[in-house]
Amino acid sequence: MKKKEFKAESKKLLNMMINSIYTNKEIFLRELISNSSDALDKLYYLSLTNANLKVKKDNLEVRLELDKDNRTLKIIDNGIGMTKEELENNLGTIAKSGSELFKEENDKKKDIEIIGQFGVGFYSSFMVAKEVEVLSRSINDNSAYLWKSDGADGYTIEEAEKDENGTVITLHLKDNTEDIKYDDFLEDFTIERIVKKYSDYIKYPIKMEVEEEEEDKKTKEKKKIKHEHILNSMVPIWKKKQKDVKESEYNDFYADKFYDYEKPLKVIKSEVEGLTSYDALLFIPSHAPYNYYTKEYEKGLMLYSKGVMVMDKCSDLLPDYFSFVKGIVDSLDIELNISRETMQQDKQIKLIAKSIETKIKKELESMLKDDRESYEKFYETFGEQLKYGIYSSYGMNKELLQDLLLFYSSKEDKLITLSEYVERMEGDTIYYASGESVDKIKMMPNVEEAISKGKEVLFLTNYLDEFVIKTINTYQEKKFMNVSDANFDLSSDEEKEELKKVNEDSKDMFALMKNVLDSNVKDIRFTNRLKNHPVCLITDGEVSLEMEKVLNAMPNGDNVKASKILEINENHPISAKLKELYKNNDKETLEKYTKILYESARMIEGLSVNNPSDLSNLICEIMSK
Ligand code: ADP
Repeated sequence: MKKKEFKAESKKLLNMMINSIYTNKEIFLRELISNSSDALDKLYYLSLTNANLKVKKDNLEVRLELDKDNRTLKIIDNGIGMTKEELENNLGTIAKSGSELFKEENDKKKDIEIIGQFGVGFYSSFMVAKEVEVLSRSINDNSAYLWKSDGADGYTIEEAEKDENGTVITLHLKDNTEDIKYDDFLEDFTIERIVKKYSDYIKYPIKMEVEEEEEDKKTKEKKKIKHEHILNSMVPIWKKKQKDVKESEYNDFYADKFYDYEKPLKVIKSEVEGLTSYDALLFIPSHAPYNYYTKEYEKGLMLYSKGVMVMDKCSDLLPDYFSFVKGIVDSLDIELNISRETMQQDKQIKLIAKSIETKIKKELESMLKDDRESYEKFYETFGEQLKYGIYSSYGMNKELLQDLLLFYSSKEDKLITLSEYVERMEGDTIYYASGESVDKIKMMPNVEEAISKGKEVLFLTNYLDEFVIKTINTYQEKKFMNVSDANFDLSSDEEKEELKKVNEDSKDMFALMKNVLDSNVKDIRFTNRLKNHPVCLITDGEVSLEMEKVLNAMPNGDNVKASKILEINENHPISAKLKELYKNNDKETLEKYTKILYESARMIEGLSVNNPSDLSNLICEIMSK
């Protein structure tokens, strides 16, 4: 019989499995049992919508058979089965979730990460087996087929005999090595332990004949007798009370269902009865999935109706700003035949979604209050999503999300909430400054000024921060002000009066200088706020310098300009020099100075210099004098 080749990506994954040094090889059983359980789900689901199919739920089962003589382990189900085409398509090609992983430059990633992060599914059998046979008969077909493969060279498919629908997977175990005793997988107690560990919640019985020693009551003779055991408790973990479930069980379940090698940061259990009834088991991951901040990421919760899986990823159950949440919702009130199309109109789905949103928010709030360290870890990973939630909804979600935000505080040298700021503030303004990093912001002249006058300043370092602040607009009736805004002024009335006079006196000089810079600046003036710095740029209006940078970095950024004011330190020798040049009517030199000052101010703010070679020429010209 001719061998068929695996698709290129499958081959890579398969080779990785065959040669895997992944120590946790036992997960192969979890993967195969999970496939069987899905196949049983599919058959049952089909029977509910197709009256001709007579399926008794009580007969649906997974069976495990160990054969020490032949060194085989069989995983048998009476589920939906596969046709010849399905065998070919499903087992010859790697699952979609898996194929994505090779599109990224993931080849370098360690197999441990890959196996943990993605459901490697059926192929994981090759971690323990040198040859795998899949005998299957589809409920939609009268013939059965046998798929066989001994690894990466390829596979064969031939017609075979099987009386009933379902699938029998036979693993021919690898030979024992010095490090790994594959024979362990032929021991009852090993298999029982693995099933209990990973597949206890599977709702179909997982049966196995187990040999037990028994004493004959009459003869007192000890005999080995085979008994059928059901290895799993069959109660879905999300139906169990939280106090009856060990943390490690939740973690194992999470790893199994959501292919994450790291345990979740938080487990959320919710049981609701009332207007709508459902059980939910939700997880906040401790790290973002590799594609989280891309278009490829699909949000959603698994949706079950009375214990039957209806949908793998129901996106309508989660708002975008909580898209990082993983989990399962099982409800009595959901129609089994609900589709993606009817989902959006479904009243029950809407009620459940609303209730889940409230629950997640409550849990995040209590984490923020009671376990700040975990919350900060969460925020570092997913905070951007919350910010995006406020910004993208034009503030519609601000009430819901604003108290979950954290910003770096100049006073505390750590992240604080807006409410913590407001609790200890005086006056009616929340001050902030934005820039590339905390260190850079600390050096900004106006920040120094604000801090020296006893103000607490929030340091915004994320590109979204300032847009979020603008969207929030007011928090507990307090307004926000960027310390680089033209209206920022903490000086006394006397100082203000004095400065006004100084500026008035140099009005004509500034008019001349402004002419040189044309529309680049809205105004030029002296300031008494800058300690040692000669110049700075501040802005007047809605768009700050940081916002200008962010907007212009966007693909279709429409060349937004902040309205800029060039401020010159009145106490710096340069001021006297400018006045002198003006007095001597040396317009030419004054123009050159003006250009240099303006471009330096741009550099200080991290903006690009309009014409670097012009600037360099000017500086050298003046240096050579
Ligand atoms: P995944 O389960 O992530 O889709 P797998 O590689 O484990 O990936 O399986 C590929 C596909 O093969 C499954 O989606 C399913 O359609 C089919 N399959 C696997 N095992 C069985 C089984 N026991 N019965 C029916 N179909 C199966």
